[in-house]
Amino acid sequence: MQFSELGLSDEVVGAAADSGYTTPTPIQEQAIPIVLQGRDVLGCAQTGTGKTASFTLPMIDILSSGQAKARMPRSLILCPTRELAAQVADSFERYGKNCSLTKALLIGGVAFGEQNLQLDRGVDVLIATPGRLLDHIERGRILLNDVKILVIDEADRMLDMGFIPDVERIVSLLPRIRQTLFFSATLDRGIRELADGFLINPKSITVAPPSSTAETVEQFLLLTEAWKKRAVLRTLIDREEVGNALIFCNRKRDVGIVHRSLVRHGYDAVVLHGDMPQPARTETLTRFKAGDARLLVASDVAARGLDIAELSHVFNFDVPTHAEDYIHRIGRTGRAGRSGRAFTISTDEDSRYLQAIRSLIKRSIETIDLDIKDQLVRGRTGNARKGARMVQEQEQATGMPTGTPRRRERVPPSVPKNAPTTGLGDHTPAFLLRPARPGVA
Ligand code: AMP
Repeated sequence: MQFSELGLSDEVVGAAADSGYTTPTPIQEQAIPIVLQGRDVLGCAQTGTGKTASFTLPMIDILSSGQAKARMPRSLILCPTRELAAQVADSFERYGKNCSLTKALLIGGVAFGEQNLQLDRGVDVLIATPGRLLDHIERGRILLNDVKILVIDEADRMLDMGFIPDVERIVSLLPRIRQTLFFSATLDRGIRELADGFLINPKSITVAPPSSTAETVEQFLLLTEAWKKRAVLRTLIDREEVGNALIFCNRKRDVGIVHRSLVRHGYDAVVLHGDMPQPARTETLTRFKAGDARLLVASDVAARGLDIAELSHVFNFDVPTHAEDYIHRIGRTGRAGRSGRAFTISTDEDSRYLQAIRSLIKRSIETIDLDIKDQLVRGRTGNARKGARMVQEQEQATGMPTGTPRRRERVPPSVPKNAPTTGLGDHTPAFLLRPARPGVA
């Protein structure tokens, strides 16, 4: 199947070709003709499947006839995070380059002024996160009566983040007669009930079962103790040919700690978490996408939906407590047919979460063993002064602290006092030095 066979205009087909796409992905093949017919869609698709283009490409053609009035957008796309919203806006920019559609991006953390100006000019496509959109609505800056197409992207994440009441309020302000496209990575009961309230006679499209993990991602598991996790991470980064990698932590606090620790050890890492002001988030992403930094340490929320081409690795510094997050995380690599590697660092306390992940993905994850003694030694004697300077430089550049207060890294007291050591003059217990032993978790 070719893009030209889907019913899209030559302009849009040309823009897809210019983006380097030769054939449509399965979600595009199935969704684009349905969207062009004006039907509602209930799409079950993971990120990385090409779902953004499956709604943006046909929307560009539908919206190309007609004109927007001031403050009355003709279509609305709701996204759970600022980054995802920004990426959707980029897609419209890219795929709509041969058309003259206007768009506005309404996300929190940036000033209202420019957003107001865009709205006043009239927008064909409004891309927004729910909170900021409601702010504009409450200020009387937007009327939603003219919205002909509504897209709800990553509905499962909206649900997880507690945005559904906001989404319901927004949808109640839209015309009843409209086209609605609803996308979610999972379709459990809660999501289906939600979708029922928004959609009329939708065409259901599922491109990958919610429990599937990308075939193109090799997955590995490392069992260790909590205090050795940073040394394990550094060892992995050193051993793997990391082009660029995302490192996930479960808690914002740990995002800061891991980032600071990596920088202190001389790694080119940047950080992304929900508490950062929007300009710093944008700057981080720009640097990472430009290849200025190889490692991005992030929380699930901040990294949700990030589209970073050719990410070679994902490291789970923590085992995610929601099994679905595992799929979302590792889905950041191995995208659009490329190969990728995902490593999950776990401790004994994670066994029930690992069990949930295995049952969701319906496969085992290969357990590998790692000799981390070099990094344990460096953890104690490492290049602390140079690292501290790099942290300071980054803080100055972004105008904000990169994480928790600075503290010296040291071998934690949890090392048994009389554990047998290597005799190398450090505190490395001898059991760490056993040779690699492959196995299956
Ligand atoms: P998405 O699932 O929308 O986040 O898209 C994932 C990635 O796939 C993005 O980098 C897109 O640029 C890319 N992509 C989308 N459609 C295609 C296609 N038909 N062929 C190749 N890559 C694509």
